[in-house]
Amino acid sequence: VHNTEQDINQIIYRIFPMIQADANNTGKEILLNLNPLPSLTLNENEIRQLLLNLVRNALEVTSTGGCIIIRTYEEGNHVILAVQDQGPGIPAEIQEKIGTPFFTTKESGTGLGIAISMGIAHRNNGDLGFETSSQGTTFKAKFKKLTLVT
Ligand code: ADP
Ligand code: MG
Repeated sequence: VHNTEQDINQIIYRIFPMIQADANNTGKEILLNLNPLPSLTLNENEIRQLLLNLVRNALEVTSTGGCIIIRTYEEGNHVILAVQDQGPGIPAEIQEKIGTPFFTTKESGTGLGIAISMGIAHRNNGDLGFETSSQGTTFKAKFKKLTLVT
């Protein structure tokens, strides 16, 4: 393990060129709405993987010309990393299966992206959830802030 004090925004900036290229190659756009964050103790490689998994899923439900939004912000004692798409949403009858290893609705999906991302969130003092409607889906990774005890 390699955990260091990190600002999630900096991690996003460092992989942005790569995910931007993925999006642009398919005629899509990634918008960033990154707000000031405190540093967290994180494994950068794992956070990159989590973000890639969420962005890939989001791009897969995005039509040509569409966009996804990556947002960061503080909420109470947490730092939130959210990936929002304008896809068709996740049908109610499969929502509880999301995150089960090997559950996929894609012809050549692995069904591992969300399961792996949930594990990553947990190992980094966080968790992963989603909100979904027919207007789109937002996956939110929520990390506990460091609490300083004096
Ligand atoms: P895979 O992408 O290989 O199918 P994932 O674990 O990444 O595996 O996702 C599991 C399932 O969750 C997908 O097959 C899809 O049904 C659903 N899903 C994940 N992200 C989204 C999203 N942004 N919009 C709609 N459905 C999603
Ligand atoms: Mg996936």
